[in-house]
Amino acid sequence: MPIVYRREPAKSGSELRAACDRLLRDIDGWRPAPAGFRLKEVQMASGLWLRMEHPGGEIRIQIIPKGPDIPHLCEAGDVLLRVAGEEPKISPALSGIAWLAAGLRSLASRGQAGYIPELVLAATAYHDWIGKASPLRIHGPQAELRLLLSCNQKCFFCNCDENAPNLVGSAREAEQALLRFYEAGARRLVLTGGEPTLHAGLKGIVAFARRIGFSFISLQTNAMLLGEGSLAGDLHAAGLDSIFASLHGTHAKVVDILTGVHGGFERTLRGIEECINQEIAVTINFVASKLNLRELPKFISWVKIRFPQGIHGVVLSFMAPVAAGKANLKQVPRLSEARTVFLMALEEGRRCGIPVRVAGICGVPLCQAKGYEAQCDEVNNPVGVEIPSDRRLGHRCLSCAYGNRCTGFWRIYLDAFGEDELLPFSEEDLSSAGISS
Ligand code: SF4
Ligand code: SF4
Repeated sequence: MPIVYRREPAKSGSELRAACDRLLRDIDGWRPAPAGFRLKEVQMASGLWLRMEHPGGEIRIQIIPKGPDIPHLCEAGDVLLRVAGEEPKISPALSGIAWLAAGLRSLASRGQAGYIPELVLAATAYHDWIGKASPLRIHGPQAELRLLLSCNQKCFFCNCDENAPNLVGSAREAEQALLRFYEAGARRLVLTGGEPTLHAGLKGIVAFARRIGFSFISLQTNAMLLGEGSLAGDLHAAGLDSIFASLHGTHAKVVDILTGVHGGFERTLRGIEECINQEIAVTINFVASKLNLRELPKFISWVKIRFPQGIHGVVLSFMAPVAAGKANLKQVPRLSEARTVFLMALEEGRRCGIPVRVAGICGVPLCQAKGYEAQCDEVNNPVGVEIPSDRRLGHRCLSCAYGNRCTGFWRIYLDAFGEDELLPFSEEDLSSAGISS
């Protein structure tokens, strides 16, 4: 039965307390609360207060009439729902609130909850928000949140457009999404864009993620702004652990063409250095296009010399023929050219002691890095992995021992250039690489 919001005249304190007692008894009898969760107290003082115990501590929820600029968790009708005090581990509290909302709904459907309409409405809205808010994609323990689409570079291979998943706008939307990620089990967070350092609320979002319990927070960035002012230090203080910095070559001449920003190469180098100084771990992402592909093997040893203080690793990506990359197809290298160069770069990483990895969907299929499978993110796909709609397997993938865990390659590429470059694995290939089929 839908709950109709109706603001009732204020009740006296004693009436309200008696009603709350009934409410608590009714909810307690409705179904067991989540493990360790207890609704301890309901009070009327500047709105309605709920005091709840959960395994991470105590949480106090306040439901108050809407007002300008009041920070809140969610709104429903004329009321706001806020969380006050310490939020050491908010996830168990969230399950508790969802349970409470379900209980209130059940009471309302039996006509027993009209005495606290604000509570019913706010808790119900909160429950609906947890359950039905716009879908967020999450893969295992790592969640990726896109803070904006705008960027201060104009890479001709940019694969980010309005179709990109998990896009939020305001800092508040970002915080709500983070709570949902955490609730779904994610403990590692990647903040991305566009360019996330352009988001005015970035520091607050990092701090919020840390406060609710994310154990690892990383930023995908071109790093240009991180070498300016105190941004890198501020982000580190807020809880940033790592950056995944785009750097696609060893010379301004090439990199500034790739990124469309004159002087961008030097600014990115400064940003990376500042992050290293601030003890933020730096992983470099090299996106291979026709323009910079040949530079890749020497890029690895250059990184080692250029950043003697240490780089966490280098990730090899391949220009995707999607978004801006779709309009610049002539810059997409052929897999057969990239294969040789990627293998040389992987070998160079081993030689000079820099961990080099091939990206998953943003890299090349596993069959293009035979012998180095353990350094390819694709190897970690589960059996029956979902293949995104802009990718497909080739006909020859039917005979590949890795076919049930591979996300294939870009549909546009395979349609344009054919499938002959795919090199299926035999069962023996997999067992010698230590992969179970
Ligand atoms: S690839 Fe990254 S740095 Fe380049 S334009 Fe796109 S979002 Fe900006
Ligand atoms: S399934 Fe196809 S694309 Fe994937 S590794 Fe095998 S041959 Fe390569």
